[in-house]
Amino acid sequence: MSAPIVVVGAGQAAATFAVRHAALGNPQPALLLGDESHPPYERPPLSKKFLVGKLERERLPIRPQEWYDAQGIATRWSTRVARIERDARQVVTDGGERIDYDKLLLCIGASARGLPRDIGGDLPGVFTLRTIADVERLAPELKPGRRLLIVGGGYIGLEVAASARGLGLDVTIVEMAERILQRIAAAPTSDYFRELHRAHGVDLRESARMTRLLEAGGRVAGAELEGGETLLADVVLVGIGASPNTALAEAAGLACDNGIVVDECCRTADPDIFAAGDCCNFPRDGARVRLESVQNAADQGDLIARVLAGEDTRYDAVPWFWSDQYDCMLQIAGLNLGHTDTVVRRDSDPGVRSVWYYAGDRLLAVDAINDTRAYVFGRKLIELGKHPPPEIVAAPTTDLKALVKG
Ligand SMILES: Cc1cc2nc3c(=O)[nH]c(=O)nc-3n(C[C@H](O)[C@H](O)[C@H](O)COP(=O)(O)OP(=O)(O)OC[C@H]3O[C@@H](n4cnc5c(N)ncnc54)[C@H](O)[C@@H]3O)c2cc1C
Repeated sequence: MSAPIVVVGAGQAAATFAVRHAALGNPQPALLLGDESHPPYERPPLSKKFLVGKLERERLPIRPQEWYDAQGIATRWSTRVARIERDARQVVTDGGERIDYDKLLLCIGASARGLPRDIGGDLPGVFTLRTIADVERLAPELKPGRRLLIVGGGYIGLEVAASARGLGLDVTIVEMAERILQRIAAAPTSDYFRELHRAHGVDLRESARMTRLLEAGGRVAGAELEGGETLLADVVLVGIGASPNTALAEAAGLACDNGIVVDECCRTADPDIFAAGDCCNFPRDGARVRLESVQNAADQGDLIARVLAGEDTRYDAVPWFWSDQYDCMLQIAGLNLGHTDTVVRRDSDPGVRSVWYYAGDRLLAVDAINDTRAYVFGRKLIELGKHPPPEIVAAPTTDLKALVKG
């Protein structure tokens, strides 16, 4: 029997590969190897409902174990791949076992960045958030009345802030950039979320650089900011982004540059090795990008299953993303990279608005805040390559559905 398709890493991309592989009836055997102790699961609830105990652990898996068994997809959890031996077409686990592959998929995700040890990053009471195990460590610390300090005002930091406020903690966010979400969104979106968090009682500080964490009684007790101010804290969450897991690929001589470099079929320079999801860097509109989103990981896993089943297809999905904070739903369609202008479309309800990104007269992306119509029709416009003028989009009287049809 021929060697299997081996999938290293068992997260969103791996699960979606498996689902499509099974649906296409590809007779080639597949084996999923994951270093966590359970089948692939949804990460978004980790900072939201699962963190606050409103979603049971049994609801997290993308497919239950029985599904893989029923499909004849072999699985090995708690198994870390330490090395790829391309000449032998084998992966080597950290227990030293050698496993043959015919095709190899790297779906190894990204790792939460921590703070350096020399500024207290390893003190007890300091957490990052990426896995179920991380939640199992963090959640018991989130007790009403405790002071939670969040380092970093990106999506994960903001979502945990909202969750922790709901649990009754005092929350402070320190963001060293001029504004929260600076790397990923335009100022009107940051402005909205700044006000939202302040209205919910979060002490949100921007242009605030933390210089070190403070210790008392063997655990974290606060932080010192540049300028000398001290913030007291019982718990610290570090939400300063994630780094793509590229070490395996680099050691195997595969090109990596902010992710494992792949082509529009998610194939590396080695025709038998593919990569998908948070770990990979792919071509898009003449640039190279790496995305951290469920949509991207899922669509790339799906695409690889199609390519391996013989379909002639390319990855060109319009990216989308969402974030929930308090009762607010942010939905993003498109990629705002390289935008030159934004316009804001407002509603009579001040909680509803959308931010539209343009490069010249080309519509690139939309951030829809509590506005599913703006998200749905904005996404459709981007998919269709339609570019309505910004002033038309911004006018509240414009019927977005009509723009799609027009
Ligand atoms: C707290 C949190 C909230 C999020 N919220 C949202 C959201 O609201 N919306 C959204 O679109 N996205 C969200 N995301 C992002 C989304 O979950 C990720 O983009 C997605 O999970 C990426 O899927 P992946 O398959 O690339 O990687 P992952 O799901 O991270 O899976 C990679 C797996 O590979 C394993 N692995 C790594 N190296 C090895 C090895 N050598 N051997 C074996 N296994 C290995 C890892 O342990 C991991 O289990 C969130 C992420 C987090 C952490």
